[in-house]
Amino acid sequence: MPYARVVLGFLLAILTTGWGCMPGADSRPNIVLIVLDTVRADRMDCRSDNAVPTPRIDELCARGSYFERVSSTSSWTLPAHASLFTGLYPIRHGATQEYTFLDERARTLAELLGEGGYRTFGVSANPVVSIQSGLARGFDSFEETWRVSAGPASTRPERHPNLLALDELLEYRDTRRPFFLFVNFIEAHGPNEPPEPYRSAVARRRIDSREISEAREHDAEHYYLDPASVSESDFTLLATLYDGEVAQLDALVGALIDRLEADGLLEDSVLILTSDHGENFGDHGHFRHVFSLHQSTVHVPLLVVLPDHAHAGERRSDPVALVDLFATILAAAGVVPPASDNDARDLFAAEPSVDAERPVVAEYYFPAQALSLFEPDALVVHRDRLGRYLRRLRSIESDGLRLIWSSDGAHELYDLAADPSETRNLAGDPRFAARERELHAGLEAFVAESGGPRPLPGGAWRRGEPRGAFKDLDSESAELLRELGYLPR
Ligand SMILES: [Zn+2]
Repeated sequence: MPYARVVLGFLLAILTTGWGCMPGADSRPNIVLIVLDTVRADRMDCRSDNAVPTPRIDELCARGSYFERVSSTSSWTLPAHASLFTGLYPIRHGATQEYTFLDERARTLAELLGEGGYRTFGVSANPVVSIQSGLARGFDSFEETWRVSAGPASTRPERHPNLLALDELLEYRDTRRPFFLFVNFIEAHGPNEPPEPYRSAVARRRIDSREISEAREHDAEHYYLDPASVSESDFTLLATLYDGEVAQLDALVGALIDRLEADGLLEDSVLILTSDHGENFGDHGHFRHVFSLHQSTVHVPLLVVLPDHAHAGERRSDPVALVDLFATILAAAGVVPPASDNDARDLFAAEPSVDAERPVVAEYYFPAQALSLFEPDALVVHRDRLGRYLRRLRSIESDGLRLIWSSDGAHELYDLAADPSETRNLAGDPRFAARERELHAGLEAFVAESGGPRPLPGGAWRRGEPRGAFKDLDSESAELLRELGYLPR
């Protein structure tokens, strides 16, 4: 072949495929996004004195940046994952307690990365993060691993259904193209039943199976109808079991890292470890993660390990919203989001955004899904108990103050610097009146900029009928959703 034709062919190949898609020429990083469902920031904080032993995550901490002030956009799985995937707050992506489905109004990370030349793999152990809920949209392959029986070898981390799914995905991946891998681990979600050896690793005494089955009896529906049914010591036991699950997650993250390293894939990857929301164990009179927007349910951990360990060992204290991972991931992949029509900012932008100290918001909508857990007449019979939760919540954090706005007027205000656990409600305190007004105005501006307030749901929720992600379920998904407390038992 004459030289000119070779050059012409080469140029045509570049013009038609782009540099990024030339076989063997795409050097963009793989992106691995791991969500440790339901893990509070105080359980994974990259500090050596943490009560929960997480040696494998600690190794990663030394290689990456830990973000100390990260807020999820909500306190439960569906809206938080939808924000992660769209870069939008719930008010704009619309997947909430009132409408349990991520519809097509927004493009997802998987869609954008796929169009940008990435292979996209999803692996989820949480049936709320599913094809059914719309969260799988855009993935080339989405493995719903709750359908896989873990079997007797399940306590071996490398035999976990998520790890087996990963094995298969890596075996058949296209080595000429980078990949985006999303993995959700469900272990820390209730019910809290860590296997050995993780149970003993955190408890200072033996916890027998009788205690575990008694702890299992405590669920959110019973607690909210009779708060005295769960004692302080019950909560202590539940929190200890939860810690055991965090220890188990550490081993699972370790196995996943080992698997990537075995194929030489870790060094060139962006690795993100985070959570979708936290958990209450009696905090603020709450159990699990319904009806609440306190820090115990929205403050989540975030560790980002970049290729070549850039920023290794860094701790960042600027306020971060979970939506920011959307922009951070697209920037790392060199993919431009459509018309920057989202609420996210790249955490590693060369020039930090001028509003790096911008307010951070979280939302919890009218609890139509959570109320479906109760008997249909519960709201009539137990109006005194449940009536107070019939409201929408929004929180805004700015300059160390955090306002939790409530649609029934029972607002709360906390000084996070002096009171990080939010024990002293300062709403109405004249010393903070001006700041409180500013925060209210900030939330009003947020709602106005996001398209204005939505009408409260009509009477449909009263019938307790499942909708969206919880409607027309196959029996496997329904069974696990019951187990996890998303459907009535
Ligand atoms: Zn979750």
